[in-house]
Amino acid sequence: MSRLIVVSNRVALPKEARAGGLASAMQAALAERGGLWFGWSGRLVEEGERTLDRRSEGRVDYALLDLTRAEYQEYYLGFANRTLWPLLHFRQALLDFSRKDFAGYLRVNRLFAEHIAGLLRPGDRIWVHDYHLIPLGAELRRLGVEASLGFFLHVPLPPRDLLAALPHHELVFSALAAYDLVGLQTPTDLNALLGYFRDECAAVADEGGNVRLPDGRRFRAGVFPIGIDTERVARQAERAVGSAANKRLVTSLEHRRLAIGVDRLDYSKGLPQRFEAFGRFLSQHPEWRSKLSLLQIAPPSREDVPEYRELRSRLERLAGATNGRYAEPDWVPIRYVNRSFQQETLTGFYRSAHVGLVTPLRDGMNLVAKEFVAAQAAEDPGVLVLSNLAGSARELPQAIIINPLDPDDIVESLETALAMPLAERRERWSAMFEHLRRHDITAWRNAFLSALDEA
Ligand code: UDP
Repeated sequence: MSRLIVVSNRVALPKEARAGGLASAMQAALAERGGLWFGWSGRLVEEGERTLDRRSEGRVDYALLDLTRAEYQEYYLGFANRTLWPLLHFRQALLDFSRKDFAGYLRVNRLFAEHIAGLLRPGDRIWVHDYHLIPLGAELRRLGVEASLGFFLHVPLPPRDLLAALPHHELVFSALAAYDLVGLQTPTDLNALLGYFRDECAAVADEGGNVRLPDGRRFRAGVFPIGIDTERVARQAERAVGSAANKRLVTSLEHRRLAIGVDRLDYSKGLPQRFEAFGRFLSQHPEWRSKLSLLQIAPPSREDVPEYRELRSRLERLAGATNGRYAEPDWVPIRYVNRSFQQETLTGFYRSAHVGLVTPLRDGMNLVAKEFVAAQAAEDPGVLVLSNLAGSARELPQAIIINPLDPDDIVESLETALAMPLAERRERWSAMFEHLRRHDITAWRNAFLSALDEA
């Protein structure tokens, strides 16, 4: 029986409270055919005390590997999150490279490969996820693994010129050729990949995503925009709207309008731009003061990385300044909340909001945009404002598409959204909802796995 082996930096155990869309998609794929999920345990141990924690839940096995503090520092905080993350989000100026971190990244990928190789059975198929593990496929091949190997990149892939700014980029990106199938979020990402292989590896790459290297190696690349569990989010939203948490939110609004943003506190999400634009909106539209609030949920993320701490204080200053300027004794413009919520709770908030603000400066897909749409009530849907720099903008052209670098664009989108007649809101929403229903997370994983079987 052919098993599916899923590999990602972190593993979502079935009973964990905050299982997102990807986690449930992988759980479903694994449960269907039986399989194994491999990743970091989240534990940091001393050298020599490393364990591989094996567990089973029904037909699904889990293998969780400990890392040392040095590995975490170099592989995760260093190369993955201070080098690759900014580069892949088009922020070359934030890129921080060190050979030590790079060596740690390669070492952890090798370590993962060694442990995975020991767990494989004939016929297994391997699906590797995201930028933490780009060289994993090449490391597995080096160990003689012949299994079918797929890779999916959840984040954007910038064009070749930017990729080539990374020191030793060829050791990272050309390693993608070790996979049988490389999946990307958008056609733009696919073009970037093909361009890189043509220019840097002298590969022949056709429009269908077939890549052939001078040494004869071949692989396929394709576009697989990740979806959400649309029906489930819609059902959750219906339920969550009546929850105590949601009723408290709605009561507190006292019939004011609500705009909502939900983002990890990350510099790719365009939060300062959003806060500034919201302040500008209130300055230009005194009639909306005391009539509209922005609820910004922003759980802190990667706080061990200095850029994230700096962003946090910048946002505190911005929110404080706007609130100080416009607040009334009974109203604050920006309700800024630095903690995470259960996905189900969020769906109720989305449904109670009139405007969803999704304004990243760059995002592979942005699932919040999709969840916001899926959570709306058909009879009176809210309006999505969406950055043209998010992968999801291509799939949701009926949103109000803005460029987050133009604050006036965000200001105008708020004006348009707040004035949009019901008929137009319904029309835009149903087109988007229909798309999300057809292209949901199940369709996504089936499309990827069938393409892997063919590759
Ligand atoms: N999310 C959540 N609780 C929170 C904030 C976010 O469960 O407090 C979820 C959200 O519902 C979405 C995911 O985290 O499924 C964020 O995915 P997205 O693609 O928008 O951004 P990422 O964080 O992956 O960059």
